Amino acid sequence: MTKIVPQPGIMDIALYEGGKSKVEGVSNVIKLSSNENPFGPSPAAQEAVKRSVHELHRYPSTDHAELRNAIAEVHGLNADQIICGVGSDEIITFLCQAYAGPGDEVIHTEHGFAMYRISTLAAGATPVEVKERERVTDVDSILEACTERTRLVFIANPNNPTGTMIGMAEVERLAEGLPEQCLLVLDGAYAEYVEGYDGGAKLVDMRDNVVMTRTFSKLYGLGGLRVGWGYAPREVIDVLGRIRGPFNLSSTALAAAEASVRDLAFAEKCRDENTRLRAWLSEALAEHGVPTDTSTANFVLARFGSQQEAEDCDNYLQTQGLIVRRVAGYKLPNCLRITVGDEASCRRVAYCIGQFKAGAR
Ligand code: PMP
Repeated sequence: MTKIVPQPGIMDIALYEGGKSKVEGVSNVIKLSSNENPFGPSPAAQEAVKRSVHELHRYPSTDHAELRNAIAEVHGLNADQIICGVGSDEIITFLCQAYAGPGDEVIHTEHGFAMYRISTLAAGATPVEVKERERVTDVDSILEACTERTRLVFIANPNNPTGTMIGMAEVERLAEGLPEQCLLVLDGAYAEYVEGYDGGAKLVDMRDNVVMTRTFSKLYGLGGLRVGWGYAPREVIDVLGRIRGPFNLSSTALAAAEASVRDLAFAEKCRDENTRLRAWLSEALAEHGVPTDTSTANFVLARFGSQQEAEDCDNYLQTQGLIVRRVAGYKLPNCLRITVGDEASCRRVAYCIGQFKAGAR
């Protein structure tokens, strides 16, 4: 037996399974498994990528000033309280590395995003899972689970994979009730889909124990370039900046993200289409006897009668060239998560689920 062993906790991490993008023997699949923007990246971002090619021999910016300034301008934030990362995944990792270690606890909710547990275990800390109420984040359960060892609480608002969210009054009650050594991380990966919601940015400005994370992978359609950011009190930014690799973001990714965040018209169009098609899809599925939770994001969580039925439906959809997401790993075995695609994809997935419910296998 080798004496070279990983740190405690590492082998407790289940390998992350991403959304599938292929079905054996089926061409032209419609991929509705990773909450990607069906309209792709903004044309301005595509132009920025092309322009960036001529400078690829140069190292990228280390301070990300141009992107941070653009984000700050568009969202009305302070640029010196922003940190950019390789997707918001990297910001989550920085937070765990910086604030949680052996003996510390990190809270996430029952159906919370997989990276919270992965990054917690990778940092040598202990993940603590708390119950939700009917697939909605429950502030009381979180507060009850806090101990003197709790260092971080992660909630995604809206949450993935449930799509549900809690109001700011509840978020504020949570921030107010946390022990003093604990940071609240508001993961706003889907915040842009909620009209008039700032992802908790104002709360970050008002308090010293709240951090917000955001991404360019969803509404901005840049999942393939990996850009996310965090908004935090200056002391937290100082801490995270010390562990961030100096060239963590490529010049291409930085240029595309900056162009995207400035393309307000494209973002608005994507948001409006998502809102319209999400309502249509939820209603169509309900008519086929498949209820969904009230989603505030770019996907819906479709509930079936049993795990078997959900799996059978998923298998049938695959034969029809449709890929959706099984979420048994998120302790939702009866459910399938379906990204809100463009109109044709929404119609196709609703039609096929209708066929399945009518007996097609
Ligand atoms: N948070 C949540 C809730 C997510 O669903 C995702 C993507 N699946 C992320 C964070 C990470 O996104 P990215 O690293 O692409 O920014």
